[in-house]
Parts: sequence; structure tokens; C-alpha cells
Amino acid sequence: MSNVLVLNSGSSSLKFQILDPKAGAEVGPQVVGLVEQIGETKGHIVLKHEGEKYELTAEIPDHTVGLTLALELMETNGFGLSNIEIAAVGHRVVHGGTVFSGPQLVDDAALEKMRELIPLAPLHNPANIAGIEVAREMLPEVPHVAVFDTGFFQSMPAEAATYAINKDVADKYSVRRYGFHGTSHEFISQEVPALLGKPAAEVNQIVLHLGNGASASAVRGGKAIDTSMGMTPLAGLVMGTRSGDIDAGVVFHLSRQAGMSVDEIDTLLNHKSGVKGLCGFNDFRDLHAHREAGDAAAELAYRVYIHQLRHYIGAYMIELGRVDAITFTAGVGENDDYVRADALAELENFGIFIDPERNKVRGGARLISTDESPVKVFVVPTNEELAIARFALSLVV
Ligand code: AMP
Repeated sequence: MSNVLVLNSGSSSLKFQILDPKAGAEVGPQVVGLVEQIGETKGHIVLKHEGEKYELTAEIPDHTVGLTLALELMETNGFGLSNIEIAAVGHRVVHGGTVFSGPQLVDDAALEKMRELIPLAPLHNPANIAGIEVAREMLPEVPHVAVFDTGFFQSMPAEAATYAINKDVADKYSVRRYGFHGTSHEFISQEVPALLGKPAAEVNQIVLHLGNGASASAVRGGKAIDTSMGMTPLAGLVMGTRSGDIDAGVVFHLSRQAGMSVDEIDTLLNHKSGVKGLCGFNDFRDLHAHREAGDAAAELAYRVYIHQLRHYIGAYMIELGRVDAITFTAGVGENDDYVRADALAELENFGIFIDPERNKVRGGARLISTDESPVKVFVVPTNEELAIARFALSLVV
């Protein structure tokens, strides 16, 4: 019995899957569930099981009601937890601070530590914790495991994690680089050595997680040594709606000259910037359609995106010294062959030779560099739920 219930609890939504990590990625989850509009009068539940869809609209005042109704809906349709035995529940938690460097079996003490970390992720951690509390109450016999978005990056050396700001202030307020998307970066960096036919300990790699949120990491011998996201997920690469790296002085300028409040600047940089802020849309399919139609703003947005991406690839090549593999993943990384080609164009002097035909092929994990390319370039689909399920199971069996 190795089924894992993976829960991703947001402030007004609950996403979950039941999957068996031992069955492999191809088998897919047995149940996929989404509870939306929690806290509103008309909440909505959608479940998928064996190709069928099950829906329910009801008042869902809180996460407890949401999960209860979802589990009941599963039960009445014959695929409830009385039929599917669960070995563990894996919970996605955004911020583990410097406390959690890997998956953690949840007990009261661990939950208390997670509560103490709320100031580091005030929008996300409370919802993650609410999900854990509800699930522990409903499934008290099953072990619960928290998997942190930041965990993988706790191995970064101090020089990569430290911001050059006043040490006393930084220490007092826990200001440092934590990194995010760690579950995806760890999952991908564990898949790549098998594709290379080498032990993970011998592989130096760059992982490019390019979705609506985007981040890059440098991984040496299975351990992260650097990443582009920072104290928050705002830093690093240009993203769908987030600016990525900017001069912190921009914040003071907007405050003083535009009279914007901290919350307004937060919204501007997190939700109204990035590719969307530059040209009006954040889906890369729209971006390319507008570029082809001669839209100058879309063209500039794309160039800024690629410029910043190459900036990080270059930095990580130097940090790693020798790079065995560069891997693209997430929505843009897995689907957008223009981005992949432009990110690594004209880097033959650095041992990177993309095969244009291979780059156009769609599908699962695949090589897109030439056979002779010293640096291998891959596309590997990310699967954060499978990664969380693997981590959860690894702690309980
Ligand atoms: P994610 O956050 O990983 O779900 O990625 C979502 C993003 O992937 C979307 O906003 C799109 O920009 C991008 N995306 C999804 N499908 C495609 C596609 N076929 N071609 C280009 N970009 C895509």
C-alpha cells in the first residue's frame, strides 16, 4: 500500500491528488480534486477519477467543509477513502525558513514551528497550515508530511544565501535568500542523472523552471548551490506577472515620487509586472502571436525575458565551472521551443549545441541538444505532486 494523498492548500482553494509514487509518473493520479471559492457562498468542487468528472456546488465556508465535502463526493461515487488506502498525506508548504531543510513528519511541535514562520510568507503559510490542521483532524491515523518549497535551497552556501545588507537588521528579520519552487528543482535534478546515465553525485546541472512563476537553480552533485528567487518569489527571472530582479531603489522612488503605498507597490511588482506588465498578456502563446503580428511591446517583453534568462544561465555556468546538463521544465520550459532556442542560442563556444529538430518535438522527458554537444540539454516535465508523494512516502515506510 503506497498511495499518497497530496494536498496543496491555498487561501481560497484546496488542490489534491491521490497517487502511488511507486507506480511511476506514467500511471498518473487515481484522483484529482479541486475545491475552489472557499469562504464564499458558492464554492465549487471538481473531481476527476478514471476519466470521469464529478462536480458539486455548495456553500464552502472553510477548508474543513471543503475537504469533508470532497471526501464525501468521492465516497458516494465509489472511490472514497474506504476503498483507497492511504499510506501518507503529503502537504505542500511554501516557506520552511531556515528551520526545515527537507520533508518533515508533522507533529504538534513541527506545526508550531511552521506557525512561527508565518511572517516570512504571510499570504501562503497560514493557508498551508490550515490544510494540514484540517487533514490531520480528518485523517488522524495517517502520517502527515510537510514538503517545503524552500527546503531544497537550504543547502546553498552562505555566500549565495546572504544579501549584502546590514547584518543586524538581516538577522533580526530573517532577511536572506531562501529560494522557491524547490520541490520542482529537486525533482528535475533527480531525474536528469538517470537520463545522463551518471550518479547524481557526479552531475553539475542548471534547472530552468519556466512557468508563470519562473526560477533557475545551479545544482552540484544533487545539492543546490544557488537559485534565482530570493527572500520572496519576486526575485530573479522575469515572470508572467512578476518583475524579477530590479533595483530595490525603484521601491523608494515609487513611494516618494508616485506616492504609492507598500501594498500598491507589492501588487505592481507581483501582479502587474513581468511579461504582462510590459505587453499586456502573460501567456507565451499570446506573446508569440503578437510578436508575429509586429507588436513592438510584445517583442520587447520577450527580449527582456530572454535577456534575463541568459544572464542567470551565464552566472550559473561560471559558478558550476563544468556543466553537464541544462534542463527546461514547467509550462513555458516544457512547451515553448522559441524560448528554449533563444535562451541557448549562439553558445557553441560554451559547449551548448541545440538540435533544432529535436527542440521542436513535443512529449515527455527528452534530449534537445545534439549527440555531440558537451553540455546536454533536456526538457523534463515537472511533477510537483509526484515529488511530494515520493518525499512523503520516503519518511513513512
Ligand atoms: P505553469 O505555471 O508551469 O503552469 O505555466 C503556465 C504558463 O505556461 C502559461 O502562462 C503559458 O505562458 C505557458 N504555456 C503553456 N502552454 C504553452 C504552450 N503550448 N506554448 C507556450 N507557452 C505555454
